[in-house]
Amino acid sequence: MNENELMAELLLPDIKKTPEFYEALYPARKLPEGARVTRIAPSPTGYLHLGTLFAALVNRITATTSGGIFYTRIEDTDKKREIEGGIDDIIDGLNRFGISIDEGFVSGSQETGEYGPYKQSARAEIYRTYVKALIQKGLAYPCFCTAEELDQTRKIQEGEKLRTGYYGKWAKHRDITYEQAKALINGGKPFVVRLKSPGSEENKIIFEDVIKGKIEMPENDEDFVLLKSDGIPTYHFAHAIDDHLMHTTHVLRGDEWISSVPKHIQLFKILGFKIPKYGHISPIMKSDNGAKRKISKRKDPEAAVRFFAEQGYDSECVINYLMTIAASDFEDWRRANPDESYKKFKFNLKKMSVSGALFDENKLIDVSKNMIAKLSSGEVFTRLCEWAKEFDPEFYAVLTEDADYTKRVLAVDRDVAKPRKDIAKWSEAKEYFAYFFEDLYKPCVEMPENIAANDAKAFLTEYKAVYDPADDRQEWFSKIKEIAPKIGFAAETKEYKADPDKFKGHAGDLSTVLRISVTGRRNTPDLCGIMQVLGKDECIKRIENAINSI
Ligand code: GLU
Repeated sequence: MNENELMAELLLPDIKKTPEFYEALYPARKLPEGARVTRIAPSPTGYLHLGTLFAALVNRITATTSGGIFYTRIEDTDKKREIEGGIDDIIDGLNRFGISIDEGFVSGSQETGEYGPYKQSARAEIYRTYVKALIQKGLAYPCFCTAEELDQTRKIQEGEKLRTGYYGKWAKHRDITYEQAKALINGGKPFVVRLKSPGSEENKIIFEDVIKGKIEMPENDEDFVLLKSDGIPTYHFAHAIDDHLMHTTHVLRGDEWISSVPKHIQLFKILGFKIPKYGHISPIMKSDNGAKRKISKRKDPEAAVRFFAEQGYDSECVINYLMTIAASDFEDWRRANPDESYKKFKFNLKKMSVSGALFDENKLIDVSKNMIAKLSSGEVFTRLCEWAKEFDPEFYAVLTEDADYTKRVLAVDRDVAKPRKDIAKWSEAKEYFAYFFEDLYKPCVEMPENIAANDAKAFLTEYKAVYDPADDRQEWFSKIKEIAPKIGFAAETKEYKADPDKFKGHAGDLSTVLRISVTGRRNTPDLCGIMQVLGKDECIKRIENAINSI
């Protein structure tokens, strides 16, 4: 054994496998030419964050568009920050938003696929095998510096106005010998394994980011850590090993990683791996008093994806909204293909915002209203009930007490050429539909100022006698118009406008009287349809109640 081989044996005696073993275990994927393999690699350190959902969407649609694979990998190397149920929250969240996962963690407890394990804590032997091979070749070495020593070096570098870090002459253990290392290990000293970087600050690397375009940076010359003292890999090393063995073609991740690309490219080269394409996703921004800033986990409730569910935003609407911020050409496509699933959209990474797209809740509301307007009443029933079951059980009980009745309620002004466009989120439905349900209906008989109580009463009394639920919309309104002249109102708005002094109002005003009496509201969708759903007895009861209380 030469010196490097002795060193490798000293540091990782338990490792008996070689990289060749894993290379054979995880052969290239059999995919058509051009198919992209993408992934997200979340750490289970908190709830599903909007940025993670956004990255998942971009990765998913990139794989879909190319006929490729989208998988999940759990980066659980930071056990201190891990939270219980973290994996479930993230994966369930993706499922809830319809982001399908081909491979990896498909639920909090279920892994599928041939390239696993998909959780880094279960891959320790793999990382250690590759590290051992690097040490054998003299491309990595042990470093015994304590935190205090590193801190001291940093202070000296700062004092001398130098770049901080473990590089060049500051890389204290770069030339450590086998004998020296052996003595330290025998003395019980902990160590990390560092890369022996062949790079120089003077050299430039140029790479083509598939989102941001051409980027030039200095080459990495830092002997950065591959394996920490507890034997766990750093993000850099795990990224190289995992994305290589899992055959990721496109690493599309948050742009906080952009400055690490020189390290990653160097690692891939040293390990003899094909370098994947990199694309760095700009964070979702928020406008705060006119200034643009990153959405913050601390300050913004919408940073947690749960916010959208709690608010009652439909997951499909949220995804379609995120598509509008992911791709500048999505809205045009949506206009041309109003009924297609977003999954059919040909996504192009070059159309992503480079500076960070702005999150705009009003836009989300707009997208949601348009999408919910297109849903059939049956679909609205299903989704509304699903939401209410979780977030408003009382309302859920009301909705499901008589499902057929609720479906008729939801069908008012829906399933027609120009459907109602009022609902942006399910939490608003209770308010919109309250007057249909006895438990929620609050009568109100406050009439518009221009209508005298006596006129309102006289109209309602006449109307009560002629109301017939079998009337269609036209017939229904003509009955109101017939009553109008009898109490000094114009039957036609035109007539009224031509000579307002001659009338107390017009038939439209009387329909408002009826509307308020029956629903307690001044504005509603198609009143004729509403009255049909409520049924004759209920309508007459409410009209009589109004006559008695105006
Ligand atoms: N665990 C890393 C993160 O959450 C993954 C980055 C990547 O996609 O490679 O930022």
